[in-house]
Amino acid sequence: MPIYRAPLEDYRFLLHEFFEVTRQTDLPGFAALDTETVDDVLANAGKFCEEVLQPLNQSGDAEGCHFENGVVRTPKGFREAYRSFAEAGWSGLGAPAMYGGSEVPGIVSLLVNEMTQSANQSFAMYPALSMAACSALVASGAPWMKEHIVPRMVSGEWTGTMCLTEPHCGTDLRLMKTRAVEQDDGTYRMSGTKIFISGGEHDLADNIIHMVIAKIPDETGKIRDDLSMVNFFMVPKYVVKEDGAAGPRNGVFCGGIEHKMGIRANATCVLNFEDAVAWRVGPKPEPAQSGEKRSSSEGMKGMFGMMNAARLGVGVQGIAIAEVAQQNARIYANERRAGRALTGAKDPDKSADPIIVQPDVRRMLLHCRAFVEGARAVAVWTALNMAITHSGRPERATADMLADLMTPVIKAFFTDLGFECANMAMQCYGGHGYVRDNGVEQFVRDGRINQIYEGANGVQAMDLVGRKLGRKGGAAPLALFNIINGFMEENAGDDALAFCAKPLRDGLAALQGATFWLAQHGMANPNDAGAAAVDYLRLMGIVVVGWMWARMAKVANAKLSANPANASFYREKLTSARYWMERMMPECATLRARVEAGSATLMAFESES
Ligand SMILES: Cc1cc2nc3c(=O)[nH]c(=O)nc-3n(C[C@H](O)[C@H](O)[C@H](O)COP(=O)(O)OP(=O)(O)OC[C@H]3O[C@@H](n4cnc5c(N)ncnc54)[C@H](O)[C@@H]3O)c2cc1C
Repeated sequence: MPIYRAPLEDYRFLLHEFFEVTRQTDLPGFAALDTETVDDVLANAGKFCEEVLQPLNQSGDAEGCHFENGVVRTPKGFREAYRSFAEAGWSGLGAPAMYGGSEVPGIVSLLVNEMTQSANQSFAMYPALSMAACSALVASGAPWMKEHIVPRMVSGEWTGTMCLTEPHCGTDLRLMKTRAVEQDDGTYRMSGTKIFISGGEHDLADNIIHMVIAKIPDETGKIRDDLSMVNFFMVPKYVVKEDGAAGPRNGVFCGGIEHKMGIRANATCVLNFEDAVAWRVGPKPEPAQSGEKRSSSEGMKGMFGMMNAARLGVGVQGIAIAEVAQQNARIYANERRAGRALTGAKDPDKSADPIIVQPDVRRMLLHCRAFVEGARAVAVWTALNMAITHSGRPERATADMLADLMTPVIKAFFTDLGFECANMAMQCYGGHGYVRDNGVEQFVRDGRINQIYEGANGVQAMDLVGRKLGRKGGAAPLALFNIINGFMEENAGDDALAFCAKPLRDGLAALQGATFWLAQHGMANPNDAGAAAVDYLRLMGIVVVGWMWARMAKVANAKLSANPANASFYREKLTSARYWMERMMPECATLRARVEAGSATLMAFESES
């Protein structure tokens, strides 16, 4: 049976020693943060994840969800676990206090989310998507929705979904066919089919609030392949009247659930909207002037806000799956005996040494740890930037740009590496990882979806290269380069950080060079941008994590002498930092060469061939 232990020591290092969050009292919600409270929240959440959620992970995967006559049942134990989760207040942890939430800052709720995803990704997706849906209502819902619906989502009494995908379109939402027609009373009637809706139907809660995008037909009743027609709606499974009274069953029905590779205990549903009552969320779109071209309507902005939050959440799933997979692989590698250490037997009294003596096994384990802890620091840094955005600090505009720039990197790079690490963890088990009993193959299957949903990773890379790099004359990447450069200059004389200096300098040079190449070629030939995008995103991911490792190495060096009782923890940090510098940063030059290879070869082969 696999295990999970909440990585509380690393959380304490990150929050208290590295980011020193309790000192940042000017940030919204941070004034009430003290070390003890933060540690208590994380320890309690960790205990819940270890004792309640993780034991249901393997059984939930084996049993899966059940679908019968439109009703979906989650696996044994999920209902009870969900009730305990909601009663303990975990569902509304980051939600505003005025709606019953605990209003814990994003830097803490992000780590709680990571623990739930490590312990049981299928389970964790139900409340995580609910909170993403709820955040859209908090941001742009009508007052009656905030009064009567939001508090019940925050308490976990009701859950929520995000409904975008249709059978013929997941990426290209211009093509969607679901339509919503306005009624005399200001509500809409919605018809159409959405597919692949996570948590679209289940037995965990009394009501499900679907956040749906659909098209409002033009005055002739036509639906065009045009983003400006797309608007954002709320469609409850059971109608909620504007005075909060319970209404009848709404016309939204589950047509079936998917049989899939992983996250088998999370119901992935076909949802049929049959003249369902819907409420528009966000301002009513002005009719387009003749000849006017719009890329999207106001309604889409609410949806994009929700999706950006969800993308960061999916990036955290990448960290989470790598964390739990490597925890198990490390234990196994210490127990499994095969062969001898290359420099001579370590345990001569035993028939063989544990496989952890093998450099290649250590490479795989260290790869996972260096990714997990480096990526976690980048995720917390981004959550901190989001908090700064809402503060009075002069750097808030830069913080906003950096959070925006990091969103596709976190979504795609972290989920790519998360899958890579789950796969490496499985490799450490040999054949015993490929069979079901040890549970490590489930991490590979569960982690694979993270690269696909919430915008496939290739599409994230296009978002980075096609939209985010060039905004405001490239202000965001320039801000990032300046910060990294500034760190390198400040620490140029620090001998203890010398091992970071050249890898970071070369990595940054590769990133700047690739950015310059894209600025020159991407506009002239969009295929060059498309061909470069995935490698460019990985390049940026490696450099940002590398910069974070250099910063963490600096703190670890300082703490090593200040806090010798914890010396082994800081020495491990330095080992991980060295790993990233020696084994990941050199990839930057290759990635730059790939970016600059252009698109000619990719575009040369005949599509039919
Ligand atoms: C288990 C599961 C849960 C899901 N949960 C939800 C949910 O809760 N809500 C929801 O709305 N959807 C959900 N989805 C749907 C998911 O978001 C889509 O599957 C995903 O966005 C890709 O859309 P698609 O499958 O239509 O692929 P397509 O759009 O057909 O794309 C196929 C592939 O083509 C490539 N591609 C397409 N367009 C581009 C482009 N412009 N640039 C570069 N490459 C491109 C990408 O590699 C992509 O993977 C879920 C899917 C699954 C499997």
